[in-house]
Amino acid sequence: MRKTVILISVVASISVRASDRTVTVCLAPQEVNFRTQVLAEGYASRIYHSIGINLRWKHSCTNAELNNPGTAFTANSIIIGIEWAANAPLTVPIRALAAARPFQPTGNRITLYLDRLKGLLENGLAAAVLGHVLAHEIGHVLLGHNGHSNEGLMKATWSQAEMTAMPHRLMKFTAYQAEELNATLDHSRVTLALAR
Ligand SMILES: [Zn+2]
Repeated sequence: MRKTVILISVVASISVRASDRTVTVCLAPQEVNFRTQVLAEGYASRIYHSIGINLRWKHSCTNAELNNPGTAFTANSIIIGIEWAANAPLTVPIRALAAARPFQPTGNRITLYLDRLKGLLENGLAAAVLGHVLAHEIGHVLLGHNGHSNEGLMKATWSQAEMTAMPHRLMKFTAYQAEELNATLDHSRVTLALAR
């Protein structure tokens, strides 16, 4: 009887509700128009909200937050740092706007390339496109790989028609990716809870 009570207590303490699936994203606001950045964050947040994940944006993070080590079982999926770079290195594919490093466990795991984004950030689609770029790169980190899909937000490239539609029709994760993302965050929460 006593064993049963303990088991129930442990399960209750590590159970995960949808509202607990929150990812903090650190992005300093110095490189683009602040209003554009905040609107872009809103687009990315709505994409994740539609699959039950909350993005919490921070414009300044401490090194301790960025380097939160996660656990021996899982990378830190709770805080993702994003940095800006003036120019993309020559090793980055010509059409890439940003890069994600999903195999790096902590720190800044996404780099946004200003020279590649510049043209897109100078027109009326700026916030919507930047928001989708943020959501896509965060997707790589949380999915744990740099692979792309044939449809939706995680396509390798978006058509002009898709980008033009972004302000009023958000691109989405596939149902399978949405499941994977939620499972990753649930696993992360459970292992973090067990490690405490
Ligand atoms: Zn990609």
